[in-house]
Formats: sequence, structure tokens, C-alpha cells
Amino acid sequence: MSDALNRRTFLSASAAAGLSLTALGAMPQKPTGKIRPIVISSANGLETVKKAMEMIKAGADPLDAAIEGVAIVEADPKDNTVGYGGIPNEDGVVELDAAVMHGPTHGGGSVASLRNIMHPAAVARLVMKRTDHCLLVGEGALRFAKMHGFKEIDLLTEDSRKIWLHWKETNGKDDDRFPPPDDELDPIVREFFGIRKHGTIHCSALDTHGDLGCTTTTSGLFYKIPGRVGDSPIMGAGLFLDNEVGSAGSTGRGEANLLNLSSHTIVEAMRRGLSPKDAAMEAVKRIVATNKAPRNRDPKGRPNFDVKFYCVTKDGRYAGASLWAGAKMAVHDGDSAKLVDCASLYDEKAPEN
Ligand code: ASP
Repeated sequence: MSDALNRRTFLSASAAAGLSLTALGAMPQKPTGKIRPIVISSANGLETVKKAMEMIKAGADPLDAAIEGVAIVEADPKDNTVGYGGIPNEDGVVELDAAVMHGPTHGGGSVASLRNIMHPAAVARLVMKRTDHCLLVGEGALRFAKMHGFKEIDLLTEDSRKIWLHWKETNGKDDDRFPPPDDELDPIVREFFGIRKHGTIHCSALDTHGDLGCTTTTSGLFYKIPGRVGDSPIMGAGLFLDNEVGSAGSTGRGEANLLNLSSHTIVEAMRRGLSPKDAAMEAVKRIVATNKAPRNRDPKGRPNFDVKFYCVTKDGRYAGASLWAGAKMAVHDGDSAKLVDCASLYDEKAPEN
């Protein structure tokens, strides 16, 4: 698809989805406080941290700022790991997972296996605010979103459909030893050939009052079994915060976080006084220690996957950490947005990179 066409699709899809997220459950503006704000995100969140910081400086609630920040990526057809344009499940249907947590109220909401809605993080905020529950899934989550005015759209873009179709036509084999000739493959398909990865966006925001908000939103594992839910919508796993301590979130192999409640681990480690880097490393090491299944280990017994963590303390210190080297995170410190290196347990790059 040409850039112009992509752009047109993006704009019309955003409009169809009714991009007035503010009307969909945002908190009232506050006068700005005196604390230096910080917004952190995964490496795909540079625009996210800029948007969230701009909103925080204008007095927005930190959760609303984080949700609007990730909405840019949810609506971006070129990010194939989140929202519109996400790689679909094995049946070619995009299924989204997202969660939010709000520091001042210690509220949380999430949606899982949500189809046809571009902004699952904003739906998750409504689950938090307009139900007495924390998690809605599948058909029920879709009905709830529609009840609140979200419009259904087809989240599959031409690119993500072609990538999925090629996977399907090659019998779903995660194997590029016998690829069809290059000239038959669209470059976007080529780029994804033999890759069975995931991707996600996390954003944690600390506002000028020292209040926290966070969200994680994703289309999850490429070609997943329909109904597979990862860590992103599970509080404690793909995100967690405590307004007295800090906020944490993750991208990467969700199953490892579900089995270890890693984001909760990080916040609890920061509560004990560990630095953000050491707290994130504690979660990394826990994953290594508990990763027993032979299929998930390399010949040296190390995890054959990656998980990345991002965290910020209530006093504005932040860090990222991953199992394997090379990960980055996006940060806005109130002055500028930048990508910074995450610490890693191993010096080598992730096996799947
Ligand atoms: N954590 C997400 C999931 O497991 C995917 C990812 O971040 O790569 O669904």
C-alpha cells in the first residue's frame, strides 16, 4: 500500500472509530502541580510519550495522558503489534488485549480478545469507571464497547492480511528454510516471513502531582490460537502500579509474565527500596529461574524468548530491563523525548532478533 493510501486508510479508520477518546471516560483537568513529570514507554512509544507529556503539562490525569498517547500507536496501521493493523489470530481476525491502572484511585480495568474496536485501552478505562468489574472479554467486551459508543471497524489492514495469508498458505510453519521465490513475495510479507513474534505498547505516566497512571495495549502473539490472552490485560502481569510506590509494565512473551506476575514483582521490589533497574532485573531473573519447559530453553538452558520491562518510581526515577541485549525504551523527562537503552541480563541479542 502506498504511504498516501495508508494515511487515508488511517484517517478514515480513526474517524470511523470516533476518535474522541476524551469523551469516553476521561477525568477532569487539574491545575498543574510542582513535581517534575515523567512518561515512559516501550521503544515504539516515542510519539506516545510526547503526546502524554503534552497532556500532563496541560493538566490531564496521568492515565488519560497514557491512554491518548498509546491511541496514536493503536491507530497506526504501520505498527503491526497493536490495535489497527495488528497481526491477526490464526483465523485472520485481529483480537486485542489492553488494561489500564489509575494510581490515585487504585482502579483498574481491562479487556481481552476484543475484536473490531480500534482503541481497547480506552474501553478498558470504561470497564474501570463504568462497571464494578476489572476484566471483560470477547463478545461481552465488544458489546460493552458498543454500548458506550465505540464504532466497529475491520482492524485488518491490507498489509496485515497479506502477511497472515502468506503464513496460512505456507501451512503455518514457523520455518523459513524453504521460502517461495522472493519475486512472488510482497516486501512487507518478506519482512515478516518466518517470524512468529509479538509486540505491544506499554506507557506509564507520572504527573505534576506525583500521581501515576499506566496502560498496556496489544494485538498479542502473531497468528495466536483464537481466544489466546497474553499478559497485557492482566493486572500484575503486563502492568501494575501502586500510587505510593511506582508503575511498571512489560512487552514480550506474555506467558512468562503470567507465570510470574512480573509487573507486580517490580512494584513490590521498588517498595522494598530497590532502584528501578534492580527491581526490573529482579523480574528478569525470576523469569529465568522459573523457565523450566525444555521447549522454552536454548541449548544453554536460557530462555529462548525475550521479555522487556519498563518502570518508574513515584519520585521520577525510571529504568528498563530485558533478558537479552539491545532493547530500548522511550522516555519523556519533561524537556525532551528520547530512546534510551534498557539494561539486560545477557550480553547477546535475543535469539529471535
Ligand atoms: N506481551 C504480549 C503478549 O504476550 C506481546 C508482546 O509484548 O510481545 O500478548
